[in-house]
Amino acid sequence: MHAAEEVRALVSVHDVMPRTLPQVERILALLRSEGVNAVTLLVVPGCDWSTEEIAILRGFEAHGYELAGHGWRHQVERYGGLRHRLHAGFISRNVAEHLALDADGILALISRCHRWFLEQGLKAPALYVPPAWAMGRIERSALAGLPFLQYELFSGILSGQTGRLHPIPMLGYEADRAWRTPVIRLWNRVNRRRCRAIGWIRIGIHPHDLDLRLAGDLREDLKRFRLHADYAAVDEPGGQRYRPLKSSRSPSAADSTISKTRSNPR
Ligand SMILES: [Zn+2]
Repeated sequence: MHAAEEVRALVSVHDVMPRTLPQVERILALLRSEGVNAVTLLVVPGCDWSTEEIAILRGFEAHGYELAGHGWRHQVERYGGLRHRLHAGFISRNVAEHLALDADGILALISRCHRWFLEQGLKAPALYVPPAWAMGRIERSALAGLPFLQYELFSGILSGQTGRLHPIPMLGYEADRAWRTPVIRLWNRVNRRRCRAIGWIRIGIHPHDLDLRLAGDLREDLKRFRLHADYAAVDEPGGQRYRPLKSSRSPSAADSTISKTRSNPR
């Protein structure tokens, strides 16, 4: 078992889009004040990015933030307004644009996402995170042919090249409906316990989380998990145990096996 101080935390900020930049900046200010020194920003390319907004992304890179691909057009923008946002993260599939596509469509979307970063003069991103962590109906082996090196799924981090899935518990705070607060709180409690055995945790922050009901929990977790790591560190040799994905045909079945790793000591 690891003490909380020994658990390596992967901190990401989701849904970086032109209209969420003010909220993202506010979160980054909090992360800086808490001494979080490895932060990955999940950028949604298919929005209407102006030249000035692209320059902000370049500034993020210059300050050492890692940019990652996050779908193409995040469906959450259809709902508009905080109260109407249906991005459930853990529960709803309403933003999961992969689920509406077949394998070819998913491959095209991921490729297009990667290409966009290069076209904007940004660094080639290493990590891809499908909206709502839902990869959809695609053979995992097909990912090896894509330019991204890692994929973040609901259950953990998948290496595109080796097909290894590193199960890593996840904490979230997107309690944008009252009923979600106890559900996410319970989820987080279970995962704070699981991460002690695994030695890794993911802290996934959404743009409006500081205005939502679990903002206090988020602040506490940032104080609790003070050892930060880049996503790339997950794939470093010897750094993390892994299990190979057996069935690429049934991603949901593969994901559901995460419970088996719960008490697995490192
Ligand atoms: Zn998202």
